[in-house]
Amino acid sequence: MSDPTSPAANGHRATKTPKISFEFFPPKTEEMERNLWDTINRLAPLTPNFVSVTYGAGGSTRERTHATITRILKETELLPAAHLTCVGASCGEIDDIVDRYHDVGVRHIVALRGDPPGGIGTPYFTHPDGYQSSAGLVAGIKKRHPDIEVSVSAYPEKHPEAADFDADIDTLQAKVDAGATRAITQVFFDNDLYFRYRDRVCARGIAIPIVPGIMPMHNFKQARNFVTRAGTTVPDWFAAKFDGLDNDAETRKLVAATVAAGQVQKLFKHGVDTFHFYTMNRADLVFAISHLLGIRPNAAQKAA
Ligand code: FAD
Repeated sequence: MSDPTSPAANGHRATKTPKISFEFFPPKTEEMERNLWDTINRLAPLTPNFVSVTYGAGGSTRERTHATITRILKETELLPAAHLTCVGASCGEIDDIVDRYHDVGVRHIVALRGDPPGGIGTPYFTHPDGYQSSAGLVAGIKKRHPDIEVSVSAYPEKHPEAADFDADIDTLQAKVDAGATRAITQVFFDNDLYFRYRDRVCARGIAIPIVPGIMPMHNFKQARNFVTRAGTTVPDWFAAKFDGLDNDAETRKLVAATVAAGQVQKLFKHGVDTFHFYTMNRADLVFAISHLLGIRPNAAQKAA
């Protein structure tokens, strides 16, 4: 008898194992560094398509992002993707960063405009000599190094600064025209928002994959503030699942994994076969969710 909880049950169209990627942030301290590497070692055998490392607001982690990416390249078989934003740097400075990545062997960049230098909610100002938009950055990278694959962002609820969905998708179109070949979405909790957005993008003739960004909310209260500021709606039914768990980290963890696993299994059941996990540098939840998707460690794929 087939497993009724498996994503392949109930007439699911995709029978193959889904593809995954993981996002990490660059560590600030030695302890955080050890923790990140424990996480990478645990997740590497799941053979993700790629792992990405974020770039701090305003370029604040420029060196740390570079160091993390370089170590991943040196010590693992993983394919790293470096996030890069336009904020706080001239085109020349950004081009140097891109060249340095290319020199050490990086062939994938996640190109972003970045948040306003004054923080989310304040007006966005470009650097006078900088890239003026994310599409400009994509074009700049592709012009210097056509062999670098470029991924970009996408917003199922539209970006908070976009006037409407049409304007939002105009920006996605400009990034694709400039050479981007994959979009990774902002975190969302209501799958219908993702499907509606994907329909809108398809209706505009944009054919690149729109990979859902999935965030298991192990620290719900903290993560809720963070995602809400970035424009993600936290539905009441979703928040209710964490009611009364503020001081119960263990149960919260189980609930977070269960909820995120449910979300990805439903997406998978509807034909979505690629997922990007915002790991928050933790392995446990993402490992369990990947397991439920049918992904098993490959013993040959070892990290450091
Ligand atoms: P774009 O794709 O260029 O624009 C997004 C939307 O905003 C579009 O609809 C566009 O029309 C609208 N818009 C842009 N500029 C304006 C304007 N001036 N006026 C009106 N509307 C405007 N941030 C980091 O700092 N570091 C990271 O590593 C990082 N990684 C991310 C990874 C992913 C997958 C995602 C989804 C986001 C990430 N961010 C990161 C956050 C991102 O930098 C912010 O959301 C930022 O505000 C927009 O950058 P973008 O490239 O998504 O913008």
